[in-house]
Amino acid sequence: MPLHAPTPLIESLSLKAGGATRIHLKMEALQVPGSFKIRGVGHACETYARGGARRFISSSGGNAGLAVAYAGQRLGLPVLVVVPETTTERAKSLLALFGADVRVHGRTWQEANELATSLLTPDAAFVHPFDDPLLWDGHASMIDEVVASGLRPDVVVVAVGGGGLLSGVMAGLVRNGLADIPVLAAETTGAASLKAAMDAGEPVSLPAITSIATSLGAKRVADHAVALTQTHDIRSALVSDAEAVRACLRFMDDHRVLVEPACGAALAVVYDQPERLAPFKNALVIVCGGATATLSQLQQWDRELSGGAIKG
Ligand SMILES: *Cc1c(COP(=O)(O)O)cnc(C)c1O
Repeated sequence: MPLHAPTPLIESLSLKAGGATRIHLKMEALQVPGSFKIRGVGHACETYARGGARRFISSSGGNAGLAVAYAGQRLGLPVLVVVPETTTERAKSLLALFGADVRVHGRTWQEANELATSLLTPDAAFVHPFDDPLLWDGHASMIDEVVASGLRPDVVVVAVGGGGLLSGVMAGLVRNGLADIPVLAAETTGAASLKAAMDAGEPVSLPAITSIATSLGAKRVADHAVALTQTHDIRSALVSDAEAVRACLRFMDDHRVLVEPACGAALAVVYDQPERLAPFKNALVIVCGGATATLSQLQQWDRELSGGAIKG
């Protein structure tokens, strides 16, 4: 029994906005832990549990940690999430809500991650946020659902952090005979680690992350994601933080669903760069979701970033 929910695939008339390209939204924001991550994390945790794991450890204070917490709860296995001091109260209380034991350690994610890995025992599985083939295999199920519903997209728009979602989407396209369609890989300019690797032609590390889209904040993407850019038609699409936040607010008005700026990055490609989709008939947009933002936080970012009035 998979731990994720099958999600709706809905055609958006609002995002189509007069263009000829039909826009299809895969609503991963509706997963119980708030994002697509439960697909891969659920598959990985079930696999580790079958292999004898009796508990799970994560060092993500974001959506990956929430997915591990939820997976552990569903499988009846304890979850420890070690997070740095910078983690918000909201993130900590969501982790607790999903039943995880939350331990705060260190000033940076690196320090929290070091403690988390040092606590590994033979009966514990460490669940990585993006760099594990089991995650990609689990994420790929969203493409299986899209194809099973009868849609064969000719382009996909997807947000990229560490590249786990991109790797899973590619795996799903390949196993459904859609390996040749282009994929627009959306990042905010302050978290463009895939773009940096594509420009360099090899995996590279960004010196720092300067975007508010923290769920995209991997300084270095998985090597596998970089390798995919060399064998498939993966095109970089960059948006500003302001555009990503504005896209979240517009999407909330248009579809009545709140998502994080990480997801807003993919939505901003549709709202603000329609020319990139114009050559296609059926665009699939992965609405990857995210549980860590609130409406008031989005509105505050919008005021700070665009100096604009609240949309209304
Ligand atoms: C994790 C996450 C991403 C990025 O996924 P990667 O696998 O790290 O590329 C994008 N959006 C949301 C909401 C996420 O939680």
